[in-house]
Amino acid sequence: MTDDISTYSVKCRTCRTRFTVHLFGSHEKNLFLVDKKDWYCEACKQEYARQQAAKLAGAQESSGFPALQGTPKQVPWAEKLRAELINKLDYLQKTLKFEDESQKALSAMAFDQFRDAWREKADAKWWIDQRRMTVRDISRRVAEISAALEKR
Ligand SMILES: [Zn+2]
Repeated sequence: MTDDISTYSVKCRTCRTRFTVHLFGSHEKNLFLVDKKDWYCEACKQEYARQQAAKLAGAQESSGFPALQGTPKQVPWAEKLRAELINKLDYLQKTLKFEDESQKALSAMAFDQFRDAWREKADAKWWIDQRRMTVRDISRRVAEISAALEKR
């Protein structure tokens, strides 16, 4: 009987609308949760997610990345993936060590070229397709660009 699902009425912290939640377990524990937990209704949760996505997109656009094109499902996902990939790229660039100034300058050029190529990708699907790209993959690609630049 303690594993039954019970229905409780809670109030959304943001808009104060009452809605019902279904909770497992003991009634006493659930009453405590109903009382103490911060509850948010579905509409407020979605609005929050939309605001977070817009914030992320704004931050990316201010660093030169375009607004992404795609379906309403693809775009927020692609923005999140793009933010993660940009973090990986920045992390990689920060951790590299160089033997001399010319190596350092060459690497900076290669990173710029790589980042500029990413800035041209406005298709959400393209970013979703890159979701398994690792720091190692990025490192390999930047090294290829460096090698090509060195030959010039
Ligand atoms: Zn609400």
